[in-house]
Amino acid sequence: MSLGAASGDLPGTGGGNGAVPGGELSRPSVAMTSQQRLRPSPNKDHTPDSYDDLQLDFSPAIFSSLERYLPSTMLGVSRDDKVKFMRGILLKYLPHGERNRAQRHREYRQKIISNYQPLHRDIYIMHPSAFFVPTFLKAINDNTEESLRNIMSEPSPGVFTFEMFQPQFCELLLSEVKNFEQWVNEVRFRIMRPNTMNKYGAVLDDFGLETMLDKLMEQFVRPISKVFFHEVGGSTLDSHHGFVVEYGNDRDVDLGFHVDDSEVTLNVCLGKQFSGGELFFRGTRCDKHVNTGTHSEEIFDYSHVPGRAVLHRGRHRHGARATTSGHRINLLLWCRSSMFREMKKYQKDFSSWCGECLREKKERQQQSVVATRSELLRREGESKA
Ligand SMILES: [Zn+2]
Repeated sequence: MSLGAASGDLPGTGGGNGAVPGGELSRPSVAMTSQQRLRPSPNKDHTPDSYDDLQLDFSPAIFSSLERYLPSTMLGVSRDDKVKFMRGILLKYLPHGERNRAQRHREYRQKIISNYQPLHRDIYIMHPSAFFVPTFLKAINDNTEESLRNIMSEPSPGVFTFEMFQPQFCELLLSEVKNFEQWVNEVRFRIMRPNTMNKYGAVLDDFGLETMLDKLMEQFVRPISKVFFHEVGGSTLDSHHGFVVEYGNDRDVDLGFHVDDSEVTLNVCLGKQFSGGELFFRGTRCDKHVNTGTHSEEIFDYSHVPGRAVLHRGRHRHGARATTSGHRINLLLWCRSSMFREMKKYQKDFSSWCGECLREKKERQQQSVVATRSELLRREGESKA
């Protein structure tokens, strides 16, 4: 089984990430004839259309400015046709890579945040006693390895599970997501999906939950990963990608075998009623070993329980089995460490967390023990002779 890396965050150019805003406008369909050349100087008497409400891959201001250069025959056509025509021109002069993806993504977010009306404003601000179960909160406040160990089970090495969210919080978050999706459908907003592997679900960071999720990572995930995932940057997590995924008959059904674009992944089941949908884990691997075989002790399957969290390394290979009935929604928080990623560039041995690097290292050690022993025996034989 060959395995992919799920990625997310920004609209992709090469990675095949979620939908690109404005991607439906693939090729300009308005033919450019000799009469339709741009004017050499702008038409100052013309008032351009506004393009602010469209999801485009160039700034709306560029379209408004360029419109003054359109040939007079183009000024009377529909706004859509003008967009197609101008986009065709822009694409010729600005290569894909030069368009500032981060800037476009900021604009995309801004557009949602300034138009979408949240249903439950309470969940946009971190409110620990309302969000978390008391046992979890106490363990975090005590902040010792022992207090954390006490609330966790580690059913397989590197997979930690614990009670995290109160049912009330899960319900509010589910209803907020539903409200957001209704808004998306009503205004026919073209949204970006959470990553390359899910067709359903929504990026929570895109509609106002980024600040709350940042606190969730800094104050509640980092203290845990500092203890249990120190060797993959667990103590220096500094950014996140937060989203929900939805599984069921009319949603995504299962999720293929993959690794996450994260150092540490928090995966919390929010509900609702469902059967199936188990997570399967198959060992942690570095880039070089990502497609190597699984050893029997690495095989582990986990059944989701609403409100319960699973925390694992992003490089822990996993997938989700089919949700066979009902509807399952999970919150995912991919936590990243820029420091770890920088350091990783200069390392070759990841035996502190890659199962295969560790196996190779042990094999090398064993071979060197065997070699030393036979060398000693040889010398002993020489001295006797
Ligand atoms: Zn390795």
